[in-house]
Amino acid sequence: MSSRIILIGPPGAGKGTQAARLSEALGVPAISTGDIFRANVKGETELGTLAKRYMDAGEYVPDEVTNSMVADRLAQDDAAEGFLLDGYPRTSAQVDELDRMLAAEGKEIEHVVELTADTDEVVARLLARAQTEGRSDDSEDVVRHRLDVYEEQTQPLTDIYRERGLLRQVDGLGEVSEITERILDTIR
Ligand code: AMP
Repeated sequence: MSSRIILIGPPGAGKGTQAARLSEALGVPAISTGDIFRANVKGETELGTLAKRYMDAGEYVPDEVTNSMVADRLAQDDAAEGFLLDGYPRTSAQVDELDRMLAAEGKEIEHVVELTADTDEVVARLLARAQTEGRSDDSEDVVRHRLDVYEEQTQPLTDIYRERGLLRQVDGLGEVSEITERILDTIR
């Protein structure tokens, strides 16, 4: 089964949850740029200090920083046979850079899964997550800003992948396990 996969969708659509389940089902690592940034913030690394400013404001971390972090991660052994990208690419410059990184290895993306969910639902989910996880970028105004940034910068990427024939849209509402099955069905 094909295993170089991008998961795309608004914040709160359930990408992280599904990425973990799909990673298990497919035997490839789930690579979440948000998780890598948060680990760096926690570890107080230089990258973390830089990223935190953007994350707390609900803005994207600059492309050069994000791209080089992803290049390092994809060069690790466990990503050689496939991977699931959660939260990357998010801008057209990141799409171009990912294409270059993969082409250099003679590889390409096989599926782009868009998890869809309506705005009110994702705002409610993100605010609930703010209570349980205490993420500093889950306050209501930052949440709404992150959704605007998504719509402006990331939603248009689905057209690029649709034109390439790679886009699979999956309804992100419903039982977690059902959604996993829906995704697996679309990529099998
Ligand atoms: P996430 O957990 O995927 O919602 O990411 C949390 C935050 O990390 C985002 O709001 C951005 O500030 C930053 N981030 C994660 N992935 C990217 C990316 N591909 N490009 C730029 N910033 C990112």
